[in-house]
Amino acid sequence: MNNDLLAGLNPEQLSAVTWPAKSALVLAGAGSGKTRVLTTRIAWLLQTGQASPAGVLAVTFTNKAAREMQTRLAAMIPVNVKTMWIGTFHGLCNRFLRVHYRDAGLPQTFQILDSGDQSSAIKRLLKSLDISDEKFPPKQVQQFINGQKESGVRAGELSAHDPYTRKLIELYAAYDAQCQREGVVDFAELLLRSYEVLSRNAALSEHYRNRFRFVLVDEFQDTNRLQYAWLKLLAGPDNALFAVGDDDQSIYAFRGAEVGNMRALLSDYGVTGPIRLEQNYRSAGTILDAANALIERNDGRLGKSLWTDAGPGDKIRLFEAYSDGEEAQFIVDEVKALARDGWNLADMAVLYRSNAQSRILEHVLVQSGVAYRIYGGLRFFERQEIKHALAYLRLVANPEDDNALLRVINVPARGIGARSVENLQTASREQGVSLWQALCGAGGGRTAGKLAEFVRLIDSLRQRCEALSLAETISLIIDASGLRAMYEADRKDGEERLANLDELVNAALGFLPQEPAMAVIEFLTQASLEAGDHQADAGADALQLMTVHAAKGLEFDAVFVGGLEEGLFPHENSMNDGKGLEEERRLMYVAMTRARKRLYLSCAQSRMLHGQSRYPIRSRFVDELPAELLQTLSATVKKTAAPARDGYAQGRIAAAPLAANLGGWKMGQGLHHTKFGDGVVINAEGAGDDVRLQINFAEHGIKWLDLRYAKDKLS
Ligand code: ATP
Ligand code: MG
Repeated sequence: MNNDLLAGLNPEQLSAVTWPAKSALVLAGAGSGKTRVLTTRIAWLLQTGQASPAGVLAVTFTNKAAREMQTRLAAMIPVNVKTMWIGTFHGLCNRFLRVHYRDAGLPQTFQILDSGDQSSAIKRLLKSLDISDEKFPPKQVQQFINGQKESGVRAGELSAHDPYTRKLIELYAAYDAQCQREGVVDFAELLLRSYEVLSRNAALSEHYRNRFRFVLVDEFQDTNRLQYAWLKLLAGPDNALFAVGDDDQSIYAFRGAEVGNMRALLSDYGVTGPIRLEQNYRSAGTILDAANALIERNDGRLGKSLWTDAGPGDKIRLFEAYSDGEEAQFIVDEVKALARDGWNLADMAVLYRSNAQSRILEHVLVQSGVAYRIYGGLRFFERQEIKHALAYLRLVANPEDDNALLRVINVPARGIGARSVENLQTASREQGVSLWQALCGAGGGRTAGKLAEFVRLIDSLRQRCEALSLAETISLIIDASGLRAMYEADRKDGEERLANLDELVNAALGFLPQEPAMAVIEFLTQASLEAGDHQADAGADALQLMTVHAAKGLEFDAVFVGGLEEGLFPHENSMNDGKGLEEERRLMYVAMTRARKRLYLSCAQSRMLHGQSRYPIRSRFVDELPAELLQTLSATVKKTAAPARDGYAQGRIAAAPLAANLGGWKMGQGLHHTKFGDGVVINAEGAGDDVRLQINFAEHGIKWLDLRYAKDKLS
């Protein structure tokens, strides 16, 4: 059995998997089997009796990666993986704080604020302190607070000379006090709070060090300072800290990730040198060569080489579209063609640099009837209707939750205006009580009746829900709160929202709490933690859409990287400094190395962005790839109307040229241009008023002309 587990590993992988009970760093490129090694090592440790399931702590980068690791482990050895401490930093810290909530000074039912909740909490704070959000934009305050927390620094430890920073520090302190009062913690707080509990309580950290003899971390290059400090508390010098990572895939520097942690680990744990894995098992040779050529342009790399015996495979396909719409159409046509050839939709992914790029793709996908999922984008648990329902659920669990109360006090509209809410806030501030308590004490006034009705609603929900299951509770909430009626009356997108609410009940039905009495709290916790991971149609065969950041660690047979334009990818915010540009290049490296067999790169010559038309130029990253590894599919080659091997080109070639209306011109027709002289129409794109002709001019070569401008110059 032991052999089965280790079968098929190459010698370096084998050495990493069976590394003795001491610390190690595996430094290796994309697709070299880091995650596989890490998972196999856990199985091996358990199988050989060196560790018990309770004695292993494993950190993954996403919730989905944690689930995948559990599934793989369960397939390798008979073990109850649900009881094991495998999760993200946030997930594990939450688990820790649920056990040690008293030490952490938190209520047992503490709630987690996701980024949106945190932002509203900050807005509310600014308002209550009468601070202008123009001078102190909430987003900036939020970044400041999270940045400090991620460096492990509390407001009390900060000082500043300039008044602006001083104010930010004050706000940080006030925000923390507000959270504490309301019994809520944000993401950064989960980590900082458990770090503090562990660092202040030597007996406790000793306990965990004795328990978790083996601590394993995937994607180590993207840990920040506090995460590493937290790891160091749990993994002492005598524990075995086993980290795997790739400095070329460090893409979260903007969130404080420190590649330097890799070097620190080597010296902190007396590790002589990293274990290297150099064989890539994921990508075809051409894809790997191109990715290697790209990343070699970065400076200061720890240095790695990657090879494959998989053979070169197909060339990388490059498509330069006229417009973003055409680019999306190309991608979708190509996906359909591949699907007709037997590829699974779920094995294909479209990656983009910015979330906003998904809209146009979605539009074309919906029109074409191609099933798709947005991975980590359109978060189910962040949709408005879901947040409303969950806010009621939070109030049922804990009416003191001010954020939740403010969210739904007048949703659906029940005649409680902004003025009354403000008065309520003032009263709560003056009396030093929660909004709920202020509400219960409010009497008199015109709206008092309405407020009292709301109190009665929440009270009655609390009573009625006591005897109900989680799913029944949510179902009752949706009906009794008036949310269902509100969305039934909404003709625009009520139907979709009701479907989402129904799906929320489904989610509750399928939810298995660790402790039934805590089902509501556990469900709310999962909703917050998984905001980005959980999709309604998980499991169906569907094309995957996601940002490059979200694609980390994943792999697909075919990968499309869209929007390869200067300003978009590399992103405009990162183009002006070398560091930013290198991080963008690492992102491109991550994107390309997700592909197993096929890689498509595309860009558009015009794109709608932030409500404006832009005419970007092709991304430098495309030009950094060796030309011989690329096959260009842009308009210029489409004119060779040879029936295409791979099925997509036929449709593409036919589309524009055969369309009747080319502004009065025909394919192959001779013409004269006032400036460029004689030429022949060899290709066309667009339709209606928006037609471009490609013309081969005898003296000036091949040019694209926009008919809107060129019309008068042609005869
Ligand atoms: P990334 O840097 O992108 O996270 P990784 O180094 O974690 O990549 P894995 O995802 O573990 O790489 O492995 C990449 C692919 O190669 C997976 O499909 C994995 O199953 C496969 N693989 C790894 N090692 C071997 C091996 N020895 N034999 C066959 N396939 C392997
Ligand atoms: Mg991996």
